[in-house]
Amino acid sequence: MYLLSDDSKELLADVKNFCKKEVMEQSKEYDISGEWPAEIYAKAFDMGLQSLEIPEELGGVGLDSVTLSALYEEMAYADAGFATTMACNNLCVKPIMRSGNAEQKKFVADLVLAGKIGAFALTEPMCGSDVGSTKTTAVYDAATDEYVINGRKCFITNAAVASIFYVTASTDKTKGAKGLSGFIVESGTKGLSIGEHENKMGIRLSTTSDVLFEDVRVPAKNLVGKEGDGFKIAMQTLDGARPFVGSLAVGVAKRALDESIAYAKERVTFGKPISKFQALQFMMADMDISIETARQMVVHSLTLLDAGMPFSREAAIAKCYAGDMSVQVALDAIQIMGGFGYSREYPVEKLLRDAKIFQLYEGTNQIQRIVIAGSILR
Ligand SMILES: Cc1cc2nc3c(=O)[nH]c(=O)nc-3n(C[C@H](O)[C@H](O)[C@H](O)COP(=O)(O)OP(=O)(O)OC[C@H]3O[C@@H](n4cnc5c(N)ncnc54)[C@H](O)[C@@H]3O)c2cc1C
Repeated sequence: MYLLSDDSKELLADVKNFCKKEVMEQSKEYDISGEWPAEIYAKAFDMGLQSLEIPEELGGVGLDSVTLSALYEEMAYADAGFATTMACNNLCVKPIMRSGNAEQKKFVADLVLAGKIGAFALTEPMCGSDVGSTKTTAVYDAATDEYVINGRKCFITNAAVASIFYVTASTDKTKGAKGLSGFIVESGTKGLSIGEHENKMGIRLSTTSDVLFEDVRVPAKNLVGKEGDGFKIAMQTLDGARPFVGSLAVGVAKRALDESIAYAKERVTFGKPISKFQALQFMMADMDISIETARQMVVHSLTLLDAGMPFSREAAIAKCYAGDMSVQVALDAIQIMGGFGYSREYPVEKLLRDAKIFQLYEGTNQIQRIVIAGSILR
């Protein structure tokens, strides 16, 4: 449960209502086709769900992080791919809001408020967890005061539908992670193209693709922060985003619990509903314990974040615990529903496929454990 202001509760009710009406049922069809549902997203962007992280001074609603978490949870309850699209748009917004200059912030805020979305392009075929080994390069051309970007990114959420990209590239190969820099790149820039689309096991309402950079020229003013800041900015962005991966994981798990409860109340074996069997009741109680524990860890890490206190360890714990929990709860929901849980007739097999991503993206759960171990051993 969340402790929210009356305004936040009202917004949450609106988002819940939208997701129930426009996303939840429709998502079944798109989960099968793997098509990006432009119509659903057009309605969501009309409602402003893409601009929730734009600060008030730039025209946004200026929400606190705990309210945002409750909204993301609700979106993921309806569909994790839908929620991923919104959250990954904010992976592009966050680094610019945190480290960009006033002009860059206004440019991105105006674009997102107008219903456009962004993508965060960090991962490459040979660089996922090991960000320091980024191969994409950005070379400064003094003659034109531009950077020339060359390289290939992969697994980039929203790439095919984004208007802007936040791209990490190496401006100095000799310095490794300290030689990375971040750039704003507009879609449609000459030399930028979208490659192969991933045919994913889950979160199929989100789109994930390769992005190719062939002599892509961007004005030097698109450099975010200074040359060499790119690694730090990427890590700060992921730190700030991790609790929200936890929110999404909690949303999926809560849906799995609710689906299994509804089923257990109806399904009769040995003359009574299976919800009367203590073996299953205890499973449900354990699912509830782990969902609420994950939610409260998410809230705790976000409370620290909003208070300006160190929160990296807590963010990593929230993401890691909630991701693992979500997979386990989806598995338990399938178990409670027996053979029907394994069937595509019911939504829980989809919830398991969706939940798996939370152990992988925005730093695998092994990487989270490295962050946590580093923090306690320091
Ligand atoms: C659907 C989807 C959407 C994504 N969206 C985006 C996006 O929008 N933008 C973006 O930039 N990226 C995105 N990613 C990429 C994602 O963040 C990476 O896949 C993830 O960080 C892992 O990188 P990798 O796949 O290269 O795995 P690798 O780094 O190759 O890791 C492989 C395995 O080794 C383990 N491992 C690696 N290093 C260590 C270590 N030091 N110690 C212990 N274990 C280790 C990992 O935990 C993993 O189990 C997305 C990925 C997916 C699948």
